[in-house]
Amino acid sequence: MKAEIIAVGTELLLGQIVNTNAQFLSRELAAIGIDVYCQTVVGDNMSRLKNAIELATKRADVLLFTGGIGPTQDDLTKDALAEFLGRELHIDRLAMDQVEKFFVSRGIHMTENNRRQALIIEGSTPLPNETGLAVGVALTEENKFYVVLPGPPKEMMPMFNQQAKPWLLQHALTDEMPIYSKMLKFAGIGESLLEDKLLDLIHAQSDPTIAPYAKEGEVTVRISTKANSEQEALVKLNTLEAEIQKRLPEHMYANTDVPIEKMIVDIMSDRGLTLGIAESCTGGLVMESITSIPGSGDMFKGGVVCYSNAIKEKLLNVPHALLEGPDAPGAVSHEVAKVLAEQVRMIMDSDFGLSVTGVAGPAFSEHKPVGLVYVAIARREGETEVYELRFSGNRETIRIRTAKTLLHHLWK
Ligand code: ATP
Ligand code: MG
Repeated sequence: MKAEIIAVGTELLLGQIVNTNAQFLSRELAAIGIDVYCQTVVGDNMSRLKNAIELATKRADVLLFTGGIGPTQDDLTKDALAEFLGRELHIDRLAMDQVEKFFVSRGIHMTENNRRQALIIEGSTPLPNETGLAVGVALTEENKFYVVLPGPPKEMMPMFNQQAKPWLLQHALTDEMPIYSKMLKFAGIGESLLEDKLLDLIHAQSDPTIAPYAKEGEVTVRISTKANSEQEALVKLNTLEAEIQKRLPEHMYANTDVPIEKMIVDIMSDRGLTLGIAESCTGGLVMESITSIPGSGDMFKGGVVCYSNAIKEKLLNVPHALLEGPDAPGAVSHEVAKVLAEQVRMIMDSDFGLSVTGVAGPAFSEHKPVGLVYVAIARREGETEVYELRFSGNRETIRIRTAKTLLHHLWK
């Protein structure tokens, strides 16, 4: 089953917006076993749009459109598809009710062109729009499957998940075996090193398939297989998972799609453990990631953003001699990271104290290179661990990787 995504909108061609819809749809289609062979972008122009439909109909089985189904004259997607198929457009009663109710409830006059948002193509299944007004459509003609979705991602994504995906599974994928996937999560390792460790598996892959991708300081590996039952799929997926885990035992922290901060919040809350955090170069990023997880209230006691040396001294009792002076190791040092973690742990009276101090760039500081970071983990009992990290990349990347790596060391 080959698919083509056709994103409609002149603003895409002008570079005013990024085609995130194609990215989302490609990922979602891959997950249900539909291979996307082509992504097309076409402007709001009737004849070019019809050409694109004709070409895509020749080379793909499933055509997914996004954009161009709003009320205005440049919203032409349904008109072009209807013309191409030689079908009529007509108003869908339910969709029209929804449009009318919307205007009544806001107390605003509905202009005539808004009726266009309730148009569907003759013989199609309407796809209700729960977060907007324009109705989508799905239809079949000569073993080809056409799905038209809105442009705004907040309308397109729920319409795809709740309406279009089930429709495709029911109509387009009846003969195909369903696809089952598992997400393996890694931290404290970059994408290229991870791929290197799995290279022979990736090269030899046919079933299950292995797809690594990196995002915000974490690497996710999706392993997928087609099978007749979940049980059959799990046998294959679990065998591959065990092999991958054996190669990266230090780094794999979960076999579901959860961020490392959620693992930490859950584990610590379960065990009744608490955390305090002192952050210099990450400016609160570690605290932000922890507190973004619901339930962190029980385990996170509090923290200090100790950006300046004065605050490191005053609030976290770092000895002046460590920070300044000809022989001082300086704020970005093993020694200071250790004191920060131990002090914040004591001040917060928590089981663990975390600290970060480093050079996020772009300029170096204390004659130390950009990307040099120290993180430390202090415990109520036992030795404080300090790690020296060296990252490349820009300020944002360094900060995100630092936060993730620190949490990964804590998880270990
Ligand atoms: P509307 O009812 O808002 O007119 P529409 O279905 O006609 O919706 P468009 O007019 O093509 O869609 O686009 C509306 C907005 O949706 C764009 O301004 C843009 O913000 C967003 N959008 C459209 N296409 C994409 C895309 N491919 N990727 C990401 N965002 C998009
Ligand atoms: Mg529009």
